[in-house]
Amino acid sequence: PPQRLPVGLGDRAYDVVIGPGLLARAGGLIAPVLPARRVVVVSDASVAAIHLPALRAGLEVAGFHVLAEIAVPPGEGSKAFERLQDVLEQMLGAGLDRRTAVVALGGGVVGDLAGFAAAVAMRGVPFVQVPTTLLAQVDSSVGGKTGVNLRAGKNLAGAFHQPRIVLADTDTLATLPARELRAGYAEVAKHGLLQGPLWDWCETHGAAAVAGDIGALTHAVLESCRLKAAVVAADEREESVEGGRALLNLGHTFGHALEAEAGFDGTLLHGEAVAIGLGLAASISARLGHCSQEWPSRVIAHLTACGLPARIGDLDRRFTVEALMGRMAKDKKNRDGRMRFVLLRGPGDVFTSADVPAEAVTALLWDE
Ligand code: NAD
Ligand code: ZN
Repeated sequence: PPQRLPVGLGDRAYDVVIGPGLLARAGGLIAPVLPARRVVVVSDASVAAIHLPALRAGLEVAGFHVLAEIAVPPGEGSKAFERLQDVLEQMLGAGLDRRTAVVALGGGVVGDLAGFAAAVAMRGVPFVQVPTTLLAQVDSSVGGKTGVNLRAGKNLAGAFHQPRIVLADTDTLATLPARELRAGYAEVAKHGLLQGPLWDWCETHGAAAVAGDIGALTHAVLESCRLKAAVVAADEREESVEGGRALLNLGHTFGHALEAEAGFDGTLLHGEAVAIGLGLAASISARLGHCSQEWPSRVIAHLTACGLPARIGDLDRRFTVEALMGRMAKDKKNRDGRMRFVLLRGPGDVFTSADVPAEAVTALLWDE
């Protein structure tokens, strides 16, 4: 049976439903939280070809009218303003009104784009997340961050717009390319380091999860969503500089810099950049004396065992230290010109710091 996790956001509280067979039951699951049985579905062409028929049937059997099915090209390139405008024009052209829900069927790209469209269409319409990648099921579909990329950087235009419900159908993970599954697992490992006991589970069962074991994957989604729901409920809009949602950026200061340098062309996936970022975050923590060398060694060994890159040297391409430092200096989480990093003392014990000397980061990147 599916599991239901509440995200405690007062009058905007919603459930994350996790389990098999949810696409076929989607209509019945979402009807109680929507004002009308009217939706537009946004997906990408790859996901739509595989999973849209089951979702459509699951909606129509419950009496939903699907006004439009909008499929964008797969890939990060679709998180763009021009694409947002195109999606909005198609939605409004199909007759979307303020009681029509936007349903995002796909990975984080579709969720971020469709969620932003739902946030701004007629100043906000109901939104439903149906994540189909591991990354989207464990991370991006929960928490209400939506947006698109600008030339100036990733996710620089966006809005907070919480979904009415999240349907994480674990059956959809069976068709996900292995590399995408591994990349999504990096966020599970991140949640493990944030949470503690989940890290122990990762070291024992993570390899089974990336090999496609559905029981392990279901546990990873459940525990990741449990952690993310608690963090989001406590700090919905990332207002806390020290704790709260900011801690979810573990590995991401380095990761975003690598991703930006690689250029969003699919050669380095977000999760792969995060995996390297986790290795670097553990290494810098050890260098600054916050944890022993055991932790970077274990983090790197685990990610490597799961088929992920864990050091910059694991990639075929080379990055200059200057370029990466320049990217990190422009991170949108910085305050007063100081770089902010999330550091760890050990699994379950992470903290943010604005006291990381740039020289220490530069030295680490040179040694990588
Ligand atoms: P993605 O959406 O690009 O999906 C990855 C690839 O898998 C795509 O080619 C897609 O077509 C394909 N795919 C998706 N589901 C499939 C399935 N079930 N079967 C077969 N193929 C499938 O990438 P992603 O990793 O899911 O998301 C990355 C994005 O998420 C980034 O833009 C990142 O910034 C964003 N993100 C957002 C948040 C947030 O809080 N909003 C958090 C983390 C990441
Ligand atoms: Zn991430």
